[in-house]
Amino acid sequence: MEGLDCLLKAGEVARAVRAAIPEMVGPGTSLLTIAERVEELIREHGCTPAFPCNISLDAVAAHYSPPPGDFSTLPRNSVVKVDFGVSVDGYIADTALTITDTAWGEVLKKAVEEALRAAVKVVEAGVKVSEVGAAVQNTLMKFGVKPIRNLTGHEIRRFNLHAGVSIPNVSSGNGARLEEGHVYAIEPFATLADGAGEVRDVQPATIYRLELRKPSSKLSEQENVLVKIIDDRFNGLPYSLRWLSDLPEVLETHQKLVRRGLVKAYPMLVERTGRPVAQAEHTVLVEKNGCVVIT
Ligand code: MN
Ligand code: MN
Repeated sequence: MEGLDCLLKAGEVARAVRAAIPEMVGPGTSLLTIAERVEELIREHGCTPAFPCNISLDAVAAHYSPPPGDFSTLPRNSVVKVDFGVSVDGYIADTALTITDTAWGEVLKKAVEEALRAAVKVVEAGVKVSEVGAAVQNTLMKFGVKPIRNLTGHEIRRFNLHAGVSIPNVSSGNGARLEEGHVYAIEPFATLADGAGEVRDVQPATIYRLELRKPSSKLSEQENVLVKIIDDRFNGLPYSLRWLSDLPEVLETHQKLVRRGLVKAYPMLVERTGRPVAQAEHTVLVEKNGCVVIT
């Protein structure tokens, strides 16, 4: 398949998987079950998860993927973000949705979905990323909610989820421009008006990415073997320890790679004042006079 066909296929599968998610999510459901089901659905369509399925609750805006043995379940009155990616030969469709059984969550969900629509409308080759951010910010303001100003969308390249340009959720003054033929994820995040509109890092990390992709004489043989396995399995894309759980006694060696800084660990991103956060996300392919929404 050509690159564009791979990307379109990834998008088609992402849409099908996204449509199946709302009925998986409800009070009492285990987070681990949802994440594994989402990833399994992607594989049933003949594709690969581009990163571990994120299921982020309430003030957790992003970057929680249930680790092995996570027994937590969804509570009542929550704002749940499910964020996942589909890879076809490294061509990635990245999408997310918010599911909620609360009145405040409904407002946030409507606001981010409308902001995403407004952002997609201004996307075309040559547009400044700051103008996309302005469209997000202005729409969120109409709903009386606040953008998360330190979370952004991002360019996507083959086997590179967060590549190059960032797409802000506010009018940032960033002069970078969208380029024809490039792929971007646009992802408005919003919190309530009394929130800080900012996330901070909170441990634990549940998502990892290999930064050193070759053997090194500084590493033990065990560490070098694990580096090779991670590189072969994930090709530089993010992963979960769930995806290494077939390997015996892997945790200690993995932790050594994290400590050495060879594996990057992604902590949770949590709203600074603890207010709930909603998210919507699409992947778009930029054209001369507009864009194609892949997801
Ligand atoms: Mn995403
Ligand atoms: Mn994204």
